[in-house]
Amino acid sequence: MPLVLYRGGDDSVVERTFSDDLSLGADLWATGGAPAGIAARHAVITRSQAQFPVLVDFAEPGRETRVNGVDTCGLRALCHGDRIRIGPAELIYWEIVLQRARREDVGRKCPFCTRPLEEGVEVVLCPRCKALQHKRCWFNLEQCCTYACQYPVQQTLRRTLSPPLRFEDVETGSTLVRDTARCPARRRRDAVPFQADDVVTRCPDCEKPYHAVCWFARSRCATAGCGYDIEALLRRAFTPGADPASVPLARPR
Ligand SMILES: [Zn+2]
Ligand SMILES: [Zn+2]
Ligand SMILES: [Zn+2]
Ligand SMILES: [Zn+2]
Repeated sequence: MPLVLYRGGDDSVVERTFSDDLSLGADLWATGGAPAGIAARHAVITRSQAQFPVLVDFAEPGRETRVNGVDTCGLRALCHGDRIRIGPAELIYWEIVLQRARREDVGRKCPFCTRPLEEGVEVVLCPRCKALQHKRCWFNLEQCCTYACQYPVQQTLRRTLSPPLRFEDVETGSTLVRDTARCPARRRRDAVPFQADDVVTRCPDCEKPYHAVCWFARSRCATAGCGYDIEALLRRAFTPGADPASVPLARPR
């Protein structure tokens, strides 16, 4: 479920989850009172018709809402990791949250592999269809597999994780195609060399190219002696930290 992280009235870090809309206003600061300069209904996070998160700014002129340092001009699409400034307060938007299956989730079936969830396994709640699914299954998909959902999983991963990763669309004349290089993930598609239109990323440590989707399906880099920890990268990006100031990956735009 999406959430925002911010500093509460007593200076502790508050995590507020929501399912559809969230009003960002004075009422968020239930304890200790809202910081001065925040209107009752400053802004709202809602979802567009296509279910993408959007911030609608209701603040009066002079109290504008900023996202990653830029004025929203009334409306702004949000991405995982965006920093929202309302009045003097900063909030961080989390579109995707990695969590462990709780006891009450046990027995629910992952829509991709159809196996029942076990307590403690890593799961993700799709922000669009709200189905709980194995992390390993969901991060492996181009789009969420729930009927009519099609949430763009890989696109969200790529937007959130560049940097530290870089992604390139392979073109017909590119070196990867000319050299008939192959993705080292050893999945079925890796029997053939890289093709035009593949989306490729390189291991930040050893620079080995992978299909982006193959990279996210692995726990570590396959290169002997490298072993870059991909799971740790995903955990850092999608597990809310205790301190917003230390939350990585918010990019200025
Ligand atoms: Zn599954
Ligand atoms: Zn979905
Ligand atoms: Zn590597
Ligand atoms: Zn591959």
